Amino acid sequence: MQRYFGKIVGKQVLLEETDVFHLTKVMRAKKGELIQVVNDGSVFLCSVTGFKPLAIDVVRKLNENNELPNRVILLAALIKGEKMDLVLQKATELGADEIVLVQTSRSVVKIKNEEKQAKLERFRRILKEAAEQSRRCKIPRLDHIISFNQIKEIDANVKMIAYEGEEGNCASFKKVLETIKTRQSIAVLIGPEGGFEEKEVDYAEDLGYKRISLGKRILRAETACFYALSVIGNYLERKWLN
Ligand code: SAM
Repeated sequence: MQRYFGKIVGKQVLLEETDVFHLTKVMRAKKGELIQVVNDGSVFLCSVTGFKPLAIDVVRKLNENNELPNRVILLAALIKGEKMDLVLQKATELGADEIVLVQTSRSVVKIKNEEKQAKLERFRRILKEAAEQSRRCKIPRLDHIISFNQIKEIDANVKMIAYEGEEGNCASFKKVLETIKTRQSIAVLIGPEGGFEEKEVDYAEDLGYKRISLGKRILRAETACFYALSVIGNYLERKWLN
């Protein structure tokens, strides 16, 4: 069953233009067709009741919540091209609540201020598609591309920086995970292809970011994002959803 993010006003459903096109022209929906619409974190079963203009009515609210039990924020250093797109897609599938892109000193990719809006719009399309595909109940927020020193503005209860120079075992990661309490928010900071500079790690630590190792091997930046989010998500769902 097709699923879209939309707005529900009373019993009426409003979809974005691109989704109206997809439903009517690509899916060639018929009258009576059932679809799912996600609105503000809730999922609704809806029925197509008419065309020209498209009319969709709410049938009933579904009892479905596919979100992680805690708010997880991925702070990802800007990395090149497709790999950045992959990080956004997989972070969505892995339950990230918010993604913040960070311009670190060794980020090869530099995004000029005048380019930011267009980049963010393209990135948000990736997030929306990945959220629909993975049946999320929300699209991860992506509001900012920040400079490294702005990590001080990140509001999270538990903050980690994955540092490849950290003692190569996962004890540090496990230790931080075990401090997480119910409803606490978690931020994990991952560096770029060239890694973090020592002074960046020191700055993050002064702000309360705990250094964690992601194991004995050096992971690519995108792999490190996937790995960190997988471990955090698995830990949270095992701990609180079983
Ligand atoms: N400069 C590093 C090197 O080649 O030694 C490579 C950096 S790595 C490609 C990119 C980012 O992934 C790092 O900045 C770190 O955030 C994360 N990362 C990769 N492997 C890691 C590990 N074993 N422990 C902790 N973080 C890791």
